[in-house]
Amino acid sequence: MEKQDLRSLHLDEMTALLKELGQPAFRAKQLFSWIHEKQVREISQMHNLGKNLLEQLEQHCTITSMRLERKQVSSDGTEKFLFQLDDGNYIECVLMRYRGDMSKQRNTLCISSQVGCAMGCTFCATGQGGFVRNLTTGEILSQVYEVNHLLQEEGDSLPVGNVVFMGMGEPLHNLNNVRKTISLLNDPQGQQIGIRRMTVSTCGVVPKMHELADEKLDIVLAVSLHAPNDEQRSSVMPVNNSWPLAKLMEACRYYQKQTKNRITFEYALIAGFNDQPEHVQQLKHLLKNLDCHLNIIPVNPVANTAQFSRPDKKQVAAFVKALQQAGLKASVREEKGTDIDGACGQLRGKMLKK
Ligand code: SF4
Repeated sequence: MEKQDLRSLHLDEMTALLKELGQPAFRAKQLFSWIHEKQVREISQMHNLGKNLLEQLEQHCTITSMRLERKQVSSDGTEKFLFQLDDGNYIECVLMRYRGDMSKQRNTLCISSQVGCAMGCTFCATGQGGFVRNLTTGEILSQVYEVNHLLQEEGDSLPVGNVVFMGMGEPLHNLNNVRKTISLLNDPQGQQIGIRRMTVSTCGVVPKMHELADEKLDIVLAVSLHAPNDEQRSSVMPVNNSWPLAKLMEACRYYQKQTKNRITFEYALIAGFNDQPEHVQQLKHLLKNLDCHLNIIPVNPVANTAQFSRPDKKQVAAFVKALQQAGLKASVREEKGTDIDGACGQLRGKMLKK
C-alpha cells in the first residue's frame, strides 16, 4: 500500500485515517496541528501522539520532503529557491520580503503548481521546457512550509503571509490540488493565511475559470493578458488559439459577476510589440465595463527569446499614463530579481542544462 502524505490531508481525511488505524478522533486534531500549524518535517517530532500511533504513522504515512538545492539573493532583496523533489525534479519559488511600515510588513511567496508547463508561452523559460507533471497538494504546500523553516532559522519572525500561484505551471491545470492547498493554508488550525492574501494566476484556461467562478472562492484572480488583440496574443501565447480574447473576456465577466471581485491583468510590456497608442485603445475597448487593474511589467529578458526587448523607463511611464488617460487603472510592476534568473523557470532551466 502506498504511504499517504500527511501534508496533503485535511482534518476530516486525517480523522478517517486515524479511525482506520483504530485511534480516537481527538488525535486527528493533534496530528493536524503538528503538520499544518507547526509544520514538522518528521513523524518522530510529534511527541505527544504516543508510541503506538507514531509507529503506525511511520508504517502507513509520509511527510513530503524537498531538498533546497540552491538559493539566490537578488540585489533588490528578492530570494529565489530551487528545491529538488523526491523524484529528482526541480521546482522554484520566489520570496519577496516587504519592509517599511510595521502595518505593511509582509513576506510574499510566489509558488509553483506544476513541474514544467504545457502552455508554451514564448516569453517564458518554463513554457519552453514543456510539461513534466502536476505537483501534489503536499508539494505545493511544502514550498510555503519549507520557506517558513528557512525564515525561522534566519530569525525572521514573519512567516509567509501572502501566497501567489504564479511560479512554474498553470495553476488551473492542477486546480484540485491548488484548491486544496488554498483551503489548507487558510485553515484556522493551520497557517491562517487570509483567502484575499492568495492570488491565483492563469494564462486563460476558460473552462476552469468558469469552474472557479462558480465556487465563489474569494481569492484574487490574475489573468495573463500580455497582448490586446488575438493576432498578437496568439503569437506569444498558444492558449489564445483554444480560447481567444472574446472567450477569455466572457469568462472574466462571468467570474466578476459571480464573485464581485476586481480582476488583475498582467501585461508584459515588450518594446515595439504591444506598447503603441493603438494598443492602448484596444485595451480600453477590451476591458470596457470590467472592474480591473492592469499590472504593466517591463518584459524580463529570457534566454533564447532575444526578440523581446525591454522598454526603457520613459516608454513604460508613457504607456501607463496613456492607459490612465483612457480611463483604465494601471500601474507598473517591476519584475523583481532579474539579476538572479527571477522569471519563472530560469533557474530550473539552468539546472537542467547542467
Ligand atoms: S507563463 Fe505561466 S502559463 Fe505560460 S508557459 Fe510560463 S508557466 Fe506556463
